[in-house]
Amino acid sequence: MTTTPAVLADAAAYADAVATATKAAAAYYADGGSALDDDSYDRLVRAIEAYESEHPDEILADSPTGKVAGGAAVGDVPHTIPMLSLDNVFSAEQFSAWAAGVDRRIGREVTQWSVEPKLDGLAIAARYVNGRLTRLITRGDGTAGEDVSHGITSIEGLPAELAEPYTLEIRGEVLMTTAQFEEANEARTAHGGEPFANARSAAAGSLRAKDRAYKVRMLFFGYGVIPTEHTAEDLAEQLRTLPHGELMTKVAALGVHTADATEVPGRVVATVEEVQQRIEEIGALRAELPFGIDGVVIKADLAADQQAAGFGTRAPRWAIAYKLPAVEKITKLVGVEWNVGRTGVIAPRAQLEPVEIDGSTVTYATLHNPADITRRDLRLGDQVMVYKAGDIIPRIEAPVAHLRTGDEQPIVFPEVCPQCGSGIDTSEQRWRCERGRNCHLVASLSYAAGRDQLDIEGLGASRIVQLVDAGLVTDLADLFTLTRDELLALDRMGATSTDNLLAAIERAKTQPLSRVLCALGVRGTGRSMSRRIARHFATMDAIRAADEAAIQEVEGIGPEKSPVIVAELAELAPVIDKLVAAGVNMTEPGATGPAPQGETADAPAAGPLDGMTVVVTGAMTGALEALSRNQMNELIERAGGKSSSSVSKRTSLVVAGEGAGSKRTKAEDLGVRLLTPDEFAEMLGELLA
Ligand SMILES: [Zn+2]
Repeated sequence: MTTTPAVLADAAAYADAVATATKAAAAYYADGGSALDDDSYDRLVRAIEAYESEHPDEILADSPTGKVAGGAAVGDVPHTIPMLSLDNVFSAEQFSAWAAGVDRRIGREVTQWSVEPKLDGLAIAARYVNGRLTRLITRGDGTAGEDVSHGITSIEGLPAELAEPYTLEIRGEVLMTTAQFEEANEARTAHGGEPFANARSAAAGSLRAKDRAYKVRMLFFGYGVIPTEHTAEDLAEQLRTLPHGELMTKVAALGVHTADATEVPGRVVATVEEVQQRIEEIGALRAELPFGIDGVVIKADLAADQQAAGFGTRAPRWAIAYKLPAVEKITKLVGVEWNVGRTGVIAPRAQLEPVEIDGSTVTYATLHNPADITRRDLRLGDQVMVYKAGDIIPRIEAPVAHLRTGDEQPIVFPEVCPQCGSGIDTSEQRWRCERGRNCHLVASLSYAAGRDQLDIEGLGASRIVQLVDAGLVTDLADLFTLTRDELLALDRMGATSTDNLLAAIERAKTQPLSRVLCALGVRGTGRSMSRRIARHFATMDAIRAADEAAIQEVEGIGPEKSPVIVAELAELAPVIDKLVAAGVNMTEPGATGPAPQGETADAPAAGPLDGMTVVVTGAMTGALEALSRNQMNELIERAGGKSSSSVSKRTSLVVAGEGAGSKRTKAEDLGVRLLTPDEFAEMLGELLA
């Protein structure tokens, strides 16, 4: 999305902004959909207001400022008294300044403020005659609204009959709770419709829709009550003179749902400081509420104060909306990742174009399950509405379908488990790896047997699946106690391959400690970290004896990683014990271990590459020909050096084999020393033997 500048440069930019805002307001009030999220719309209108105050003679007739609902909505049922919107403030300072303005206007200090959540729905007026609900009218342009009485039966919290036979008008907000929104989307997509972008647009669209094949539920929140022309005079007098807080208690007693029935009831407080405190409390609860709020409404509670403050053209002067930071933004869905959980559940996760929401940068959002993706008809490249508040995991509400360009691509679902390669059980909504809890075991054993770890030839993924399914292997150590008979009993396992596999497993027992450690798959460590740890401590006993402080002496392990590694090693203790018992090597060749306390730590035996950073590029030949890149790295580290993948001024040495390209050129440019594989092999000398 383009971001709107805070300042409009000229008349053309101003006209553009007015056109964009008018279009967005029209869409918003028509069906709740909009190309702009609320935050962008607010910023746009503020920029328009700023321009108009500087250039009062250039104000365009269709400017959204100074108009209820941005001038968008229409209707033909006149309101008893105008149904105004509220002005906004966006900070504590702005609120204090506004409150001081009210005090000045009425000539005394307001000592009773009512503070309520601002519900993110649609304002409507509900007319009751002799206690019976007769008519439902939208806000419209504030003076007249649309009759939406057909929606009465969909709305909870607005009784068909009040507890008293009163004639009056209740005003409030209609919205969908999170649960109602989910239901509505399911019903809508089941009938072939596109999912709603968010709860607000779902409520707006559903309220105005007349002949839908499916029914949705919504919830009403009363926030005001006024007399109509037929209200009995004594009741009308009460409604005109009672403080707002007391009126709301009365409304609730009539059977109407209000915020008082929720986790964020209205409160009456005495000072601006107490108002601020209550705003913070409501803001803190926002993420856990089962319905959307986008701010806090503050009103002078006493009728006398309200009358003294009076009304502006589109908003009362005694009430204000304090907007909370936006928790919904529109951004682009750029990818979907498939992650496998501990129980084998395969969960999609959305990758987003980074967007700032509620004070943090959001890059990922949950997508629940594949059916959910299908139901929402999400596509790669879609602009999506993302919701995030407080500590909750960001979630995608829906694609903003009318922003599609036609370049969107379908999301590809995996055909095999992305972790272990097994089949996927798609019979439930939540997809699951066929191996279930064993998925992780299959994947970790495949990794352990890999060329750069224990290098067990003949132990591929399908063989591991067989072993795991037969119950022969439940952890890494079990590989080393497999018997010939057990292997021979497996399908497609002849005598020769059995003997070859047993021999490969036997050889794996002699791998250096660094590879054993790597094969254990300690979280937070990969190949090079495992080598560093092994070289630093030299033996598994020393590694297991190390506490967090001792582990941190290894380069690259900080205070965040060290507790994880210590805890993981403790958890792996039974497996390590079994490996030791099976005769697996637990020492690192050439390493001497950390220096005793009091001496300089980590002084390795001097090697030919001491303190050097080495880059290897191109194909190795001669004595180095058979070595993988990982083995080259091991060799360099064993010789006291550090391996790196990119050439810089800090590179000490570049080993350039056949076909070496840009790295060689860069080394030449920087004057870094270049060696052929043969020269390098000579330099390493007996380390290669
Ligand atoms: Zn799997």
